[in-house]
Amino acid sequence: MAPAPEYDVLIVGAGPAGAACALALAGSGLRVALVDKARFPRDKVCGDAIPGPTLKALARLKPEYAQELRALTQAHRTDVQTSRLFSPAGAQVSVQWQAPAFNSPRLHFDAALLTLVRRHATTTLFEGYTVKKVREADGIVVAQLNDQAELRARLLIGCDGANSVVSRSLLPHPLNRARHCAAVRAYYRGVTDAPATTSEFLFLRRYRAGYCWVFPVGGGVYNVGFGMLSADIARHQVDLKRELQQLLTTHPELAGRFRAAELLGAVQGFGLPLGGSRRPLSGRRALLCGDAAALIDPLQGHGIDKAVISGILAAEHAQRCCASQDFSPASLFRYDQAVQRRLGRDLARRYQLMRLLARAPWLVELAFAAGRWPWLRRWLVRTIG
Ligand SMILES: Cc1cc2nc3c(=O)[nH]c(=O)nc-3n(C[C@H](O)[C@H](O)[C@H](O)COP(=O)(O)OP(=O)(O)OC[C@H]3O[C@@H](n4cnc5c(N)ncnc54)[C@H](O)[C@@H]3O)c2cc1C
Repeated sequence: MAPAPEYDVLIVGAGPAGAACALALAGSGLRVALVDKARFPRDKVCGDAIPGPTLKALARLKPEYAQELRALTQAHRTDVQTSRLFSPAGAQVSVQWQAPAFNSPRLHFDAALLTLVRRHATTTLFEGYTVKKVREADGIVVAQLNDQAELRARLLIGCDGANSVVSRSLLPHPLNRARHCAAVRAYYRGVTDAPATTSEFLFLRRYRAGYCWVFPVGGGVYNVGFGMLSADIARHQVDLKRELQQLLTTHPELAGRFRAAELLGAVQGFGLPLGGSRRPLSGRRALLCGDAAALIDPLQGHGIDKAVISGILAAEHAQRCCASQDFSPASLFRYDQAVQRRLGRDLARRYQLMRLLARAPWLVELAFAAGRWPWLRRWLVRTIG
């Protein structure tokens, strides 16, 4: 017989999914632990665009969460008023936003989210602990840490990102390059003709399922990146770092503006598991959220909002399972159904649209041409920018 678990719920990963899950479990009366291999503040390779639904989902939990998050990120946030999109042929579409979204470097944004957890939840936080392996034994789930210590819980929630050890251990899934992107990101200062409140998206003639971005993140610094479908990277043997450098020196919209720009730090890459595939998200006393569950928007590459929303859904299901003491596959599967209803169908549609636009570049140009009508322009920017 395995020793009794110390926790009801163990959350692995304290990024947006894990932090939102811990916040949603605040006041539940459950014994909750949150473990992350990093010590915060920590960087995460990202475009740093915080999608609007992120704050909406947190505000629905408690209005103070969104207010406090705005206050905590005040010094490291840029409210985006305009999005500007460039088609592969050079057509341009701009939209002014009434309710601004914002950009915030993940170094600061994720630390602010974790501050909310420290303030509002009684979660036991373990920073600097890597979960090496996870196993299910005698009706509990055990996470083995880097120092050989173990944490035991009745339910485990995998919020440990694109290379999730929880998914690998309990819900393995082969990499499908047609549903996976890779992207590189760099920070630049001294970019000219780049308004401080405008996010830019550039679609390319050569690599269709992907885009290059220039996002202001405050203090005259820009998050600049390029990402594309992993299947195309493998097919065309693309070196993303080299490709980004080439774009910044040769693209007609970018070359002049980056001539005097200074690269801050290294160009870094990371994977984006795309949503819309209906892979299993529960089983063997575990639920997966965020990137661990492959929930990134295939068109825009946004995943922070999906991470927060799935983290909150997982918390609701964890409470239900613990209250009924029912951790059966059927009970856990209700989480899959909830994610499918809330996010899955839309992600599947957006995946199909991404593939269609990649196959039919004339459709992209047609959409940009139709962008002279304001409502179509808004739809276009909301959909692919
Ligand atoms: C280049 C790039 C650009 C992107 N741009 C955007 C964007 O602009 N907007 C947007 O919304 N999304 C963007 N995304 C996607 C976004 O970054 C992710 O969807 C989001 O971070 C998912 O949050 P998460 O909490 O699921 O995982 P993560 O943010 O990856 O957090 C996972 C956490 O788990 C921890 N962890 C991992 N393994 C272990 C382990 N074994 N033990 C303990 N802890 C562990 C990590 O340290 C980390 O803190 C981008 C992604 C990339 C790669």
